[in-house]
Amino acid sequence: MSNPSLLILPGDGIGPEVMAEVRKIIDWFGAKRGIAFDVSEDLVGGSAYDKHGTPLHDDTMAKAQEVDAVLLGAVGGPKYDVLDFSVKPERGLLRLRKEMDLYANLRPAQCFDALADFSSLKKDVVAGLDIMIVRELTSGIYFGEPRGIIEEGNERVGINTQRYTESEIDRVARSAFELAMKRGKKLCSMEKANVMESGILWREVVTEVGKEYPEVELSHMYADAGAMQLCRAPKQFDVIVTDNLFGDLLSDAAAMLTGSLGMLPSASLGKPMANGRPKALYEPVHGSAPDIAGQGKANPCACILSFAMALRYSFDMGAEADRLEAAVEKVLADGVRTADLLNEEGRTPASTTEMGDAVVAALDASL
Ligand code: NAD
Repeated sequence: MSNPSLLILPGDGIGPEVMAEVRKIIDWFGAKRGIAFDVSEDLVGGSAYDKHGTPLHDDTMAKAQEVDAVLLGAVGGPKYDVLDFSVKPERGLLRLRKEMDLYANLRPAQCFDALADFSSLKKDVVAGLDIMIVRELTSGIYFGEPRGIIEEGNERVGINTQRYTESEIDRVARSAFELAMKRGKKLCSMEKANVMESGILWREVVTEVGKEYPEVELSHMYADAGAMQLCRAPKQFDVIVTDNLFGDLLSDAAAMLTGSLGMLPSASLGKPMANGRPKALYEPVHGSAPDIAGQGKANPCACILSFAMALRYSFDMGAEADRLEAAVEKVLADGVRTADLLNEEGRTPASTTEMGDAVVAALDASL
């Protein structure tokens, strides 16, 4: 059998810096666990624009469609702000998501005990938090037609349309139920069925799909109430499934429960390929952080944890994903901190490479 294949797209700003640390982890799995990946690397975002005049070359897009998983660093930067909208670095990322048809965005919100003080909520509310938000990513109000700004009488009107087909709801619901089966077997679906027809349909379809997953305890919540519950008692949730707009807001709110942007991974999954694995793109939630790029200050953990998600969801290596997540947890418990994880004056932060090396050492210690 051939090795699992991985396309690495480091991107811009801190993207290449954090990806270099992931490379060490990938090498570690090859050397110490006998797990070899066929890794290829290419350009995306501003770095692709600089070379090809486009933020994603067609050849790179074709490669992304062939591999088992894509791991992306970050795109963007002030240098590219003046570019036309059609060639901005973010368009490269959006093209990947669109053409790979990645409809389920997985955003874990996990609070490592060692970082519980970093949350804006009380420590006992967030310590041990481990929830997963599944956001529909390719439909809903960000894509619905009609849209635009039109003239009506003597004023302008801004229009966007919330639109969901049954099949779009069905497939993302299935992704969420499958995840719930692998986790705590609890799924909460969030919409606004009290005021939106698309919410009524959402609730009906999720309920229908739920009949195929009798082991999963399904509940429904209005998204505004869900936002309140996420701040009040987030540990009541296991998996949450919601639409594109509500998911955008709820996943950002949930992410901040856990402290730093430098710790947050994500995955975007699509239809299963011929080999049964879903099309998949893994990336840290953070951007290219131009304010700290090139200074060795970036926290590589979000990108490392994104690779852990790839091990779990693309390569069926759940035990190795556990090993990597535990290594990150150990490093934090040992007090290793990049600058974003330090609020004490006078302590010298670990650099990006020191953090990566510490994770590799913790992996060694796990053997
Ligand atoms: P950002 O996430 O890049 O940075 C926000 C703040 O968090 C900054 O102060 C930054 O230093 C800090 N930060 C982010 N990641 C960090 C890490 N790993 N370690 C330590 N600190 C970290 O968001 P922004 O400043 O709004 O955007 C900067 C650029 O990134 C823009 O061009 C934006 O369009 C782009 N962006 C890209 C993505 C992506 O590639 N998925 C996502 C968001 C923003």
